[in-house]
Amino acid sequence: MERVDIELINCFGQLVRNSSKSIVLVPHMNPDGDAMGSVLGLWRVLKNAGFKVKVVSPTKYPEFYHWLDGHDEVIIHSHHPKQSARAIEESDLLICMDFNQLSRLGDMKSLVENYAGKKILVDHHPYPGDFTDLLISDITFSSTAELIFSLLQSTDLAQYIDRNAATSFFTGIMTDTGSFDFNVSNPSTFEAVAQLTRMGIDQLDIHSKVYDNYSPDRMRLMGFCLSNRMIVYPEYNAACMYITLEDQKAFNFKTGDNEGFVNMPLSIKGVVFSVLFTEKEKYVKASFRSKGEFAVNEVSEKYFNGGGHRNAAGGEFYASLAEALDQFEKLLPEFEARIKLSIK
Ligand code: 5GP
Ligand code: MN
Repeated sequence: MERVDIELINCFGQLVRNSSKSIVLVPHMNPDGDAMGSVLGLWRVLKNAGFKVKVVSPTKYPEFYHWLDGHDEVIIHSHHPKQSARAIEESDLLICMDFNQLSRLGDMKSLVENYAGKKILVDHHPYPGDFTDLLISDITFSSTAELIFSLLQSTDLAQYIDRNAATSFFTGIMTDTGSFDFNVSNPSTFEAVAQLTRMGIDQLDIHSKVYDNYSPDRMRLMGFCLSNRMIVYPEYNAACMYITLEDQKAFNFKTGDNEGFVNMPLSIKGVVFSVLFTEKEKYVKASFRSKGEFAVNEVSEKYFNGGGHRNAAGGEFYASLAEALDQFEKLLPEFEARIKLSIK
């Protein structure tokens, strides 16, 4: 039985079939492995099926995804705004993937908001916004990649899922579950992976391309942060890590170099709530992770202009790094009882 409602699947198929110009696929800004895996997997499937299809990303994405099939055709809006606008204007169907609010598009928001054609959203975040003609959103999926893969299997596009598309979908599932460390309570995720495996993907190679691809500078920054930029709050079962602009300069910081840092304090015995603050020119990027019941998206929504999933969330804090750290310390007593729910 399909996990996605059959009516939604049919609507999806119909909107795609009705597209006579081109289809544009859009991930969220600073796209992660799930956002890129989802759009590039779908890009390959639609291309194999004979559609004209383009990917327009609001911003660039980490180099350790620059091997995915189709990555060299991605149009980056922040680098090529005119080309992006033209690609969107010349299309008649836009498929937004892996985000739930238009604000997640940054400077590309108005292009999508004022779009004249049809729009679809395929996503797995809670509280999806009402900004598309068709909404396919389900938080029981580990990742958008798993959702789009399941959906495609119930359409006549299934025949066009090849090894390249399967590799992109697996990349999305692998990265959004931290290599099957979280968001994997649903057995269907492993069934999807089994099917992708039958399509000939090389999991070890994919894992290595994503996770064994860092620079020496990044490894040294990680060691530096673990030694000098981590604060543990044992009484709250929490930990905090931060990276200043100066640190970034000292270690030649590149997009994605802080990937995974926020998960590390969760390896400390007793720690179930972790935050990473990365200082930016105009704001502080916040990343949250938790284990178990404690919902970090509530913290992110209430205090850091963000959102996300129960165990993985993020936001943007428009003040100094010192104020972000202060805010974090102050909120701990408020959430203490809820954090304790995660202690087994
Ligand atoms: P990360 O910590 O890896 O940047 O983000 C974890 C999750 O938090 C993402 O999958 C996304 O759902 C959510 N997230 C990250 N940054 C933001 C943000 O600025 N706003 C909102 N609403 N969600 C975010
Ligand atoms: Mn995702």
